Amino acid sequence: MEPYIPLNVLQLKIKKGKLNLTTVVEHYLRRIQEEAHLNAFIEVYEQEALDLALTVNEKIMNGTAGKLAGMVIGIKDLICYKDHGVSAGSKILENYVSIFSSTVVERMLAEDVIIIGRLNCDEFAMGGSNENSYFGPVKNYADNTKVSGGSSGGSAVAVQAGLCMAALGTDTGGSVRQPASFCGIVGLKPTYGRVSRHGIVAYASSFDQVGPLTNSVEDAALIMEVIAGRDEYDSTSSSKPVPLYSQELTFEGKKRIAYLPETLNSEGLDPEVKALSEATIKKLQDEGHIVEPISFPYLNYVVPTYYILTMAESSSNLARYDGVHYGYRSPNAVDLESTYKKSRSEGFGTEVKRRILLGTFVLSAGHYDSFYGKAQQVRRLIREKTDEILRDHDFILLPTSPGPAFGLGEKTEDPVVMYLADIFTVQASLAGIPAISLPIRNNSQNLPLGIQLIGKRFGESELLAFSKYLMEVTKIQ
Ligand code: GLN
Repeated sequence: MEPYIPLNVLQLKIKKGKLNLTTVVEHYLRRIQEEAHLNAFIEVYEQEALDLALTVNEKIMNGTAGKLAGMVIGIKDLICYKDHGVSAGSKILENYVSIFSSTVVERMLAEDVIIIGRLNCDEFAMGGSNENSYFGPVKNYADNTKVSGGSSGGSAVAVQAGLCMAALGTDTGGSVRQPASFCGIVGLKPTYGRVSRHGIVAYASSFDQVGPLTNSVEDAALIMEVIAGRDEYDSTSSSKPVPLYSQELTFEGKKRIAYLPETLNSEGLDPEVKALSEATIKKLQDEGHIVEPISFPYLNYVVPTYYILTMAESSSNLARYDGVHYGYRSPNAVDLESTYKKSRSEGFGTEVKRRILLGTFVLSAGHYDSFYGKAQQVRRLIREKTDEILRDHDFILLPTSPGPAFGLGEKTEDPVVMYLADIFTVQASLAGIPAISLPIRNNSQNLPLGIQLIGKRFGESELLAFSKYLMEVTKIQ
């Protein structure tokens, strides 16, 4: 089998009897085994995937198959799937089995997707390198000494290495886009409220969104079409109609795009990332689009604002892991208080504990106004300024990450250094608007580099159409 076949081609081949879905699933199972050292999968659903291949193949043959028939995907270990383990990359949920399926899983299964396994991630999605997973780091397929990015590191590497066709991740502050950029694939964070969060292990509820990691913009569009839309189980999900994204991948006329000079002059920006951003801007200008510098004066505030708010939300969300309701209970506990204390101390990793402690601190009575309250106000300023830029512009263009994938262990000593690497992804998260990372080209070390486009609220359709175009016009650079 070829490494990657677009879904419509695959379906046609199956329909004509030239390819069998069992062969496809066997191919991915073999690839997963060959690349087991990458540590992308936490669990593989081998028999189930093979069983489903038979049923779905039949459906394709008789014309009753759903939109995602033949798509073999992996899901981040944070997305609940009934009767399957979900551990959020944490010891505290190591043996936990989900009693229901998330809405995204239900919707994809209804369209005949094949879920081949669950994918490694940073513990509770807290991280940007997948080095915070209880199950160990994920290695970048382009260079095994580099990180996958995170927190959806397993999802990104699984697609990069051809271990499945596409994957679902979650993005709170960049966790779909940044690993996609490190791994040379497409990663989309939808508008907040576009996709149901029902059945997604919560990190920071006013930020979390599920998003696709794919080989192509077309696959991202198709997945979005299936997973987006109102869900009665998530009151923050929007009832705006869901466009047929995969049918709307063209546009007419010229676009007006803003780039933020502060991002290109920011300290620590890798020269090759800067050069790629400038070349992309130039290319779009040459194609007749208006691409102009617009100042975004809050760039230095986005990271602290994001971390104060997400730590606060996570300290509240993670209170439920108490050794009583879910998962791990310390064998050393002797009474109720020690059950809480020991289960949490032993069950959570260092980064998660750091965030719970800091989150509890910023919410505490004496410090609430100066940290949490203030950060909420700054979030509003960031959102308003970003919305203002997007009133006059179709998109904002910026790098996805300040650099390419960094070395394993390179940033683990100092959490602040790790946090600062999120400088370009958290703006869209704070503003709650859609953003996509596109693999434009590799650097001189052959490591992938990504360019990010931020779109208007609920403007996924326009964002995807322009992304497809951008991928095409930058191909020959
Ligand atoms: N790196 C960011 C963090 O650690 C983003 C994580 C995410 O989007 N889940 O919070």
